[in-house]
Amino acid sequence: MTDLTLHPHRDFSVTRRHPWIFSGAIAEVGGAPAAGETVRVLSSDGAPLGVGAFSPASQIRVRLWAFDDRREVDAAFVAERVGQAVGARAVLAAGGATDAYRLVNAEADGLPGVIADRYGEWIVCQFTTAGAERWKREVVEALQALSPCRGVYERSDVDVREREGLPPATGVLAGEAPPERIQITEHGCRYWVDVREGHKTGFYLDQRDNREFVRRYANGGEVLNAFSYTGGFGIAALSAGAASVTHVDLSGPALELAKANTALNTCHVDDSAFVQGNVFEVLRKFRDAGRSFDLVVLDPPKFAEAKGSLMKAARGYKDINLLGLKLLRPGGLLATFSCSGLMTPELFHKVVADAAVDAHRDVQVVRRLQQADDHPEGLCFPEGLYLKGLLCRVR
Ligand code: SAH
Repeated sequence: MTDLTLHPHRDFSVTRRHPWIFSGAIAEVGGAPAAGETVRVLSSDGAPLGVGAFSPASQIRVRLWAFDDRREVDAAFVAERVGQAVGARAVLAAGGATDAYRLVNAEADGLPGVIADRYGEWIVCQFTTAGAERWKREVVEALQALSPCRGVYERSDVDVREREGLPPATGVLAGEAPPERIQITEHGCRYWVDVREGHKTGFYLDQRDNREFVRRYANGGEVLNAFSYTGGFGIAALSAGAASVTHVDLSGPALELAKANTALNTCHVDDSAFVQGNVFEVLRKFRDAGRSFDLVVLDPPKFAEAKGSLMKAARGYKDINLLGLKLLRPGGLLATFSCSGLMTPELFHKVVADAAVDAHRDVQVVRRLQQADDHPEGLCFPEGLYLKGLLCRVR
């Protein structure tokens, strides 16, 4: 195994159990490890700090598998980690509230770069790093053994793989190919999930708990579901007795699936409730037309991809939140989110507060929201908290 030595005073984050080592922290690599190969990380005075996966193409040069003095990682290690992750979700599986949930959440589960989501009888995976790619076969075998399924499908068609020097990859990894649409059940609502073409692995599982909070407040109200994707929040609201839901999304296929999902849960599908368009423009039109709602959901895509675009992203978040607040009736609720990891909860809070000031509305935070509990964050890995939200009430 190759030894890799850090510069003096650059071992702090590793001793704090942060799993990333950036290229600038590395003094010496004792050899030429291949992409994904396991390396042993040493402090400048030679003390072993852990083992990790080497990624020569990435600025994040090593992602640590373990913070101890072990000398190797093998199939048994991978199976143990997968087993711990799957075991931690047993409570979700057993409760019967949902048959779709995340089994493995990358760094938080001690498996950087590995995502595995369960959709009914299928598992859909993403391998986003060189180390994850190296151990793909072992991960899939462990998943099949520990969370039996009809098939494992790969959706490693994500941009981040480029930074690791990896091409996109999709297809069947084991067992049967999944059908074009898989039906899942979440808290009594049924959804079709397109695991081949849909976003992420097909569905925003990370919003499950937040769909429950929205449901709690939906009763009898008129709901605006902006950035609706396949309808999630709106359908949850309808199932809890919302009077109506208007979905807005740019994507025609997402809205088609939102319609199919509505049909799956209610008898009545009103085509006018599905608006294809840019939320920034549609919300302005609604405002100009004097429309108002009792509950507005704003769940936009990542606006900030890099630090340089954070301020522009903040302006985008402020704009939609300002519009969303203006569309609310007195006493109405805003469920607003940011899934940009670069946007801290503090900055997001400030942006929504700025929007409230400009909207001349008094706003209280009913609840701070975050990703669902099958998407845990490593305590020493704050980057793992990417989804944050606020459930607000306006006076
Ligand atoms: N709330 C959804 C997930 C939203 S993902 C759920 O819980 O399932 C973000 C969605 O925003 C995607 O469907 C994407 O098509 C849409 N989108 C991105 N930019 C948009 C824009 N400017 N206007 C409208 N929709 C947009």
